[in-house]
Amino acid sequence: EYGGQAMDPVRQSIVNDEMVRAKAPYNVGASGLGMLGPTLISWGNEEQKQRYLPKILTAEEIWCQGYSEPGAGSDLASLKTRAEIVGDEFVVNGQKVWTSGAQYADMMFCLVRTDPEAPKHRGISYIVIDMHTPGITVRPLVQMTGDRGFNEVFFDNVRVPRKNLVAKLNEGWIVANATLFHERNMLGSASGSEQRFNRLLALAKSITRGGRPLTQDPVFRQRLVELEIRVEAMRFHSLRQLTDQIRGKNPGVEAMINKLVGTELNHDLATAAMEAMGDYSMLSRDDEAALDHAYWPYEWMFSLGLVIGGGTSHIQKNIIAERGLKMPKSR
Ligand SMILES: Cc1cc2nc3c(=O)[nH]c(=O)nc-3n(C[C@H](O)[C@H](O)[C@H](O)COP(=O)(O)OP(=O)(O)OC[C@H]3O[C@@H](n4cnc5c(N)ncnc54)[C@H](O)[C@@H]3O)c2cc1C
Repeated sequence: EYGGQAMDPVRQSIVNDEMVRAKAPYNVGASGLGMLGPTLISWGNEEQKQRYLPKILTAEEIWCQGYSEPGAGSDLASLKTRAEIVGDEFVVNGQKVWTSGAQYADMMFCLVRTDPEAPKHRGISYIVIDMHTPGITVRPLVQMTGDRGFNEVFFDNVRVPRKNLVAKLNEGWIVANATLFHERNMLGSASGSEQRFNRLLALAKSITRGGRPLTQDPVFRQRLVELEIRVEAMRFHSLRQLTDQIRGKNPGVEAMINKLVGTELNHDLATAAMEAMGDYSMLSRDDEAALDHAYWPYEWMFSLGLVIGGGTSHIQKNIIAERGLKMPKSR
């Protein structure tokens, strides 16, 4: 009813795997498809589902995520961007940071403080904002990859219709967490790691050390095997998650495991490639002598960002320990 093909999660998973195998380019609508869409299906009202879901599927509207602020990253509930209700509108003032793709986005799903007097987790609301509204300024930030992937976003008396509130006023924290679960699930892709591993293997076969291919060097070979075991474990973990999904279970601590293990594995795969390449790992894309089209130096820097984005590894470990292993809360 919202423009999709009404297929089951198994088909979705097969399509995702095939897209990775076909080396399809990064999906510019990923935040809408993977994060906001599933959140709206659970928490949006009928009007919001009708209005937003079809345009996520057709990529007519690109979304960005307005969570982090200069003083609120891991401790997200400390966010200060204020939304005051004036008549039928919210008036938004404040600043977001590290907002991926904000310079291209049509819409933002955003956390705002609507009750500054309430305890910090309780005075937050989840609203959606049209990025073309007057009063919004987007300033790109340059990452170490050289890309302008994320931005600072400033709000100066930005007027947002009250009907853009998702779920109840001041109860945005629970909706925010629903989106985070979906984000963490999306960030650790087993088929993506498998593809990277195969690329690393091809690289190692093409490099000679001590008169033989690197794949026959006993030390590097051991390292490859350890990485392959982790890739295989990721695959089983994602199949287990798929089974849960078919049984109608929402992603829980499994999503944190996915994010933690998947992003660290991708960075370790890139680190192994960088070490295999030795001095060649310093060459950039426009250098003719670069190995494997200088994919790995870029991937090494980019994958480090994903260990941080969507919640750092330390935070995933804290949540897995507290909610999954029922260990005492960290102080
Ligand atoms: C590539 C990339 C894309 C991003 N895209 C977006 C986006 O689109 N939208 C958005 O809103 N945000 C985005 N972010 C921001 C991201 O969510 C934050 O960077 C992340 O949550 C960490 O917050 P911080 O940078 O403020 O670090 P801090 O919270 O200041 O953390 C600093 C260090 O302290 C550690 N630490 C903090 N608290 C604890 C604790 N309780 N226990 C143990 N260790 C702790 C952290 O692990 C980290 O090592 C992106 C970040 C990156 C890198």
